[in-house]
Amino acid sequence: MNTSSLLRWLRKWASCILLLPGAGAALAQVPDFGTYPVYEGSDLGLTYNSRQSVFRIWSPVAEAAELLLYKHDSEGLPFRTVPMIRDEQGTWVANMPGNWVGTYYCFRVRIGQQWRQPVPDPYAKAVGTNGRRAQVVDLRRTDPEGWAQDASPAFGQNKATDAILYELHIRDASIDGASGIKHKGKYLGLAEWGTRSPEGLSTGLQHIAELGVTHVHLLPFFDYNSVDEAAPAKAQYNWGYDPLNYNVPEGSYSSNPADGAVRIKELKQMVQAFHQHGLRVVMDVVYNHVADAGSSNFEQLVPGYYFRQRPDGSLSDATACGNETASERPMFRKFMIESLLHWVQEYHIDGFRFDLMGVHDIETMRQIAQRLRQVKPDIVLYGEGWTAGASPLPDSLRALKKNAHLLDGIAVFSDDLRDGLKGSVFEEKDRGFVSGKAGMEPSIQFGIVAGGQHPQLAYDKVNYSKAPYTSAPEQAVAYAECHDNHTLADKLKLSVPGATPEQLMRMQQLAQGLVLTSQGIPFLHAGTELLRSKKGVENSYKSPDSINRIHWSSKAASMGTVQWVQQLIALRKAHPAFRIADAGVLAKALQFDVMAPPGTVAYIVNGAMVGDSWRLLMVIANSGSQEIKYNLPPGDWQKALSMQATSGPGKGAATVAAHDLLVLYLQ
Ligand code: CA
Repeated sequence: MNTSSLLRWLRKWASCILLLPGAGAALAQVPDFGTYPVYEGSDLGLTYNSRQSVFRIWSPVAEAAELLLYKHDSEGLPFRTVPMIRDEQGTWVANMPGNWVGTYYCFRVRIGQQWRQPVPDPYAKAVGTNGRRAQVVDLRRTDPEGWAQDASPAFGQNKATDAILYELHIRDASIDGASGIKHKGKYLGLAEWGTRSPEGLSTGLQHIAELGVTHVHLLPFFDYNSVDEAAPAKAQYNWGYDPLNYNVPEGSYSSNPADGAVRIKELKQMVQAFHQHGLRVVMDVVYNHVADAGSSNFEQLVPGYYFRQRPDGSLSDATACGNETASERPMFRKFMIESLLHWVQEYHIDGFRFDLMGVHDIETMRQIAQRLRQVKPDIVLYGEGWTAGASPLPDSLRALKKNAHLLDGIAVFSDDLRDGLKGSVFEEKDRGFVSGKAGMEPSIQFGIVAGGQHPQLAYDKVNYSKAPYTSAPEQAVAYAECHDNHTLADKLKLSVPGATPEQLMRMQQLAQGLVLTSQGIPFLHAGTELLRSKKGVENSYKSPDSINRIHWSSKAASMGTVQWVQQLIALRKAHPAFRIADAGVLAKALQFDVMAPPGTVAYIVNGAMVGDSWRLLMVIANSGSQEIKYNLPPGDWQKALSMQATSGPGKGAATVAAHDLLVLYLQ
């Protein structure tokens, strides 16, 4: 377990503790899953039209299977029970003539003379309240007006390194009383344009679009378990890392969770609004475990198959949530691929962030990348290259950070840069480069070159990785903070107790500057531009809105930082020198100043070599609390940007203010 894993473990443990009883229940004996037939068709679940509904499930171990039809989404007995017919490759089918739209349904199978619990099948595309029953829905009737013409906006040349990611929780964006947003906490709240804070500043979608980011990464919005959709007035909150129905939108973000069509339509309206305003949508997906293995639809239909086991038959637990899925088994691999394709094709999703990707096997991730790129060549894929515990699948086969170069264009988060910038996320008092810790320069340089091979890098001095793990910049995500752990503002405040608010702000701005000028894919935590605080709460997965919400009234006081982030994004978008796609070119074009004084990271990029309009670009980051004079190479250096007005080129030397990032160029 590495340090990142430990933290994930703590968070997952906390978010899953209520589910633990039963989840780790031992199986008597692990069946030989390799003997199970694999279904090759692509019609698992419901195939609907107005003349018939065909239902197909996979359960090669069942002796009998039934389709149960219901009038309501959570109450009452089935009004009809339909025996299913055994079909090819372990599947069971029920063909129902007529138009069944609106009807709720479940399946149950008999194994060893025992009927198991009725469940929606894993392939269900619509469900009622709390995801207990699936629903027959005509997906074409869930399309908002203009959906057929909906197109994902271009970003740069649509390379992954052209993306600028912004990580946001749907509810956090609008729930604040000062958001000026009508549909607070809902999909539709993020579709509202032109909303204003009491101070008259833009909020929500318009605020995000004005920043200039290219992709909004949304925390889980598949149907998850922890929020009671039947009690919308109750004070409840969750990040949503506890999957229930993978192919269905979460109901608590919709205006009516009982009607399966409503949440589908409203999510599409949100995606459409994003696309219309130049933003792409990334979905945070959690295929590594389910909320509760024992009661899950997977386990009820095919016991044991979808989860990894230890040799004694008990469920293994690399997620620290009581179970881990088995992506290497063909029918779960198939499920992941078809589920992701559903989100791309039905909802026009533009990218995925894989939670605990290190749980999944490399071959599955490679097939996922290949299949998704056939449908959407410019899809952006990245994930956490770690787990939260030990897995029975060997490290060499799993999608871990150290294996990123094998992942076919799927990026991993650079915790090296994250903690290099601000200090370990596990040690509250630990500092990083921006908060004045000595010796962090190599970790920052490692992040700047996106975790790749560079001739000037002292790999043995990098905080975590002691060797390159990427073969192309598109394989690394550069970041300083995310939803996990303290926000950057809280971390700086806790670890630099003597600093003034002004100094803390400068440190945060320096971190933002380094993230947005690093090669690879930059990633911002929503609200970093507002110096977002969670009042020192480190793990806010179920904290109240008062902790998690974006405080829109804080925008007026943070406009300097908002504008700084906007300028950095504009600079990055205008200059390919910050978005070099080829590692070999990057190693030649980017040269560090190895003689830079301690506390300073400085480098030059040969713009001419990478098609930039500037011949040479220079970045100087001063993490010290004193202004420095930095000797410049010959030339008429011009200032591109700095946070502080006093920073800039002079005769033979540049002035760089305390905690500032200065970018210079030569025409
Ligand atoms: Ca739910």
